[in-house]
Amino acid sequence: MSEYDYDLFVIGAGSGGVRAARTAAATGARVAVAEDRYLGGTCVNVGCVPKKLYSYAAHFHEAFEDAGGFGWQLAEAPRFDWSTLRDNKIGEIKRLNGIYGRLLDAADVRLINARARVLDAHHVEVGGEAVSAEKILVAVGGWPWTPDFPGKELTVNSNQVFDLETFPERFLVLGGGYIAVEFASIFNGLGSEAHLVYRGELFLRGFDQEVREFTRDEMAKKGVNLHFETNIEAIEKVEGGVKVTLTSGEQLEVDAVLAATGRRPHLAGLGLEALDVARTESGHLAVNERFETSVPSILALGDVTGGPELTPVALAEAMQLVRHHFEPGEPAPLDYRNIATAVFCHPNIGTVGLSEAQAREACGEIRVYTADFRPMKHTLSGSSERCLMKLIVDEASDVVVGAHMVGEEAGEVIQGIAVAVRAGLTKADFDATVGIHPTGAEEFVTMRTPTRR
Ligand code: NDP
Repeated sequence: MSEYDYDLFVIGAGSGGVRAARTAAATGARVAVAEDRYLGGTCVNVGCVPKKLYSYAAHFHEAFEDAGGFGWQLAEAPRFDWSTLRDNKIGEIKRLNGIYGRLLDAADVRLINARARVLDAHHVEVGGEAVSAEKILVAVGGWPWTPDFPGKELTVNSNQVFDLETFPERFLVLGGGYIAVEFASIFNGLGSEAHLVYRGELFLRGFDQEVREFTRDEMAKKGVNLHFETNIEAIEKVEGGVKVTLTSGEQLEVDAVLAATGRRPHLAGLGLEALDVARTESGHLAVNERFETSVPSILALGDVTGGPELTPVALAEAMQLVRHHFEPGEPAPLDYRNIATAVFCHPNIGTVGLSEAQAREACGEIRVYTADFRPMKHTLSGSSERCLMKLIVDEASDVVVGAHMVGEEAGEVIQGIAVAVRAGLTKADFDATVGIHPTGAEEFVTMRTPTRR
């Protein structure tokens, strides 16, 4: 019998923490989880899940417009009711919180509804109780961060934007990352006058340049007002809203400003400073491939470690951590290459592997295949939305090293393509695959002539 109360004490019941707790418990480990907010973490409560629900809501706007060309006549103009969407979302998330609780219960994991503080390498204080554990896992995720400017307190962050009291008829988002483009699209689709303000020349830094430009053009066509190479200088309260002054001198009056300027590790009050747990330059917890921090009995995974901030990455890390610490043998290292991702701006982006610039750097000689077309649906809908598909191939080996799409359900399409890219399949394999007709996705197996080399 171990000298500790628990074999694993998890701090944070987000995607990574819950998965680690359940998987470790399944090996026979005695596990407890401490969580002082909601079960399911960012993804379930203020991230992926509500965002996707709101993205669906926003898509109806276009669907109503598209329907006319297919013979549908709406008796009256559709009206959007924010409180219905928000409150239905709240109900669904409560349901998911309940599922997470039951999953932990069924796995025999003790859930403690309190914030834990690490006392030393094997002890935590939680809800007034001192608990000992052989291993402590810090899976506390990240927290939205907003830069300083006068009127910063008048902004909302991505935790708050889902539950706005009233619908913002005029909406502004600061930033050029995932959250900024997604929320600019969502509120634009829901009917707001939407503005996106980004300090750089073009948003979505790190994505394929052609994808970024294509997305810019499509979002602008849909009515999002894009303000690049500018930043917020100040925000002040005015009658009926707020006035945002940009560094370009432009002033915009809006009802809500979302700061989507990145997230930081949520480590405040955890007690790790006293233990001198090493941090990376960006302030994240530094871990080795066994997810051990500089104090080996204190483990960390997910957003707090600064890897790709994606739920499926935290889940994969959780299972890998359990293999390392609770199962016999040494697992093969986790492969962080070719992680597919989707951005739920409108139209969606799906991407896996290298961008064109990265591929040129990594492979030297490459072939690039692109298809830029009007989807069949829009021949009758009258919409001017276009779709971009792109394959990047290493000239020497013929291996497809990158696949990108901007268009309806791009994430759904790229998930399948990601299997092929991860498996290292060649362009010849793609060519030998018989397409599914009529789909947009068949372009990925029918592009024959390189656009450029
Ligand atoms: P990101 O790190 O993706 O983007 C932050 C943005 O804020 C960047 O455009 C950055 O500009 C800008 N920024 C940073 N500091 C300042 C500043 N001082 N003034 C003005 N602008 C600034 O963060 P997000 O908040 O969008 O999202 C956090 C993470 O959550 C993402 O990286 C992603 O991993 C994850 N996520 C994933 C989603 C998905 O899978 N669909 C959806 C939402 C989030 P610059 O580029 O110039 O540095």
